[in-house]
Amino acid sequence: MPHPIIFSGSPMDRADHERRDPKFIEDRLDREDSRFIPLWRLNALVKQGDEAGLAFARNVVCEHANPDVGTVFLGLVDDVAYFAVDISSLENPEEALGAEGVAKFEDVRAAASRLPAPDAAIIAHARSRVDWHARHPFCPTCGDKTVVRGGGSHRVCTGCSVEHFPRTDPVAIAVVTHGERCLLGRQHGWPDEMYSALAGFIESGESLEEAVRREVKEESGVPVGDVHYVASQPWPFAASLMIGCIAEALDDAVEVDRFELEDASWFEKDRVERALGGDPKGAELIVPPPMAIAHHLLVHWVAS
Ligand SMILES: [Zn+2]
Repeated sequence: MPHPIIFSGSPMDRADHERRDPKFIEDRLDREDSRFIPLWRLNALVKQGDEAGLAFARNVVCEHANPDVGTVFLGLVDDVAYFAVDISSLENPEEALGAEGVAKFEDVRAAASRLPAPDAAIIAHARSRVDWHARHPFCPTCGDKTVVRGGGSHRVCTGCSVEHFPRTDPVAIAVVTHGERCLLGRQHGWPDEMYSALAGFIESGESLEEAVRREVKEESGVPVGDVHYVASQPWPFAASLMIGCIAEALDDAVEVDRFELEDASWFEKDRVERALGGDPKGAELIVPPPMAIAHHLLVHWVAS
């Protein structure tokens, strides 16, 4: 992969051993060099000005932490502790943090491509983790309250003592090829001429290869043979892992499922190459930007 895949490549050591020690967490909560990442309604605090980057808060921000989430220890970067703090209850968060004019809360998806790659990876981790804690205050087994453990690595039920760990949902995404053409689809409501790789959640009891074959067949009617893994991407909306593949079609007859897709069609390699090169008019095709793993899969296929 010539360019980094956004949200991957985190410099964070998740400090599995250290986080088991409540004294270690307490000590790092008090230290001057620790960094506190505030999340407000899952938006990230981003420095304004020429160079965007994550902005941090002082540890007093923990006073405003959502009691169901607490202060979540993410890990260490060069021995500096990083914590995520959900401050969604504040009405004017920039004012409360003294950040007005310096930093602003922004949607993570919108801000990500402006952030340095390590910051994008760290905020992906923080956003997914805070979101999971906020949505799991009760035990799905017995219904009692759950509490945070491991500095935020998981939750434990106060009733039945079952441990609950954050989930990641795997999504299979594939560029299907047939000779020098690839199959791309467009969803309802997308801009004209925009197409992307076909994708869907991997279901229970399915391998990655089986999920690709099922999804492609369901959405486009195209039968798929070999499936080759290329790369993956954490996608923190809410907590997916995009697993990118190149798949080989056994036949090129397309029968689109109009419930799922507006269209699916075959595209010649040179046309995809022009679209990737930023010439959507010449190509009469718009492909996803470098933020999406579909872009990287198309780059990989065009270069092959
Ligand atoms: Zn329980």
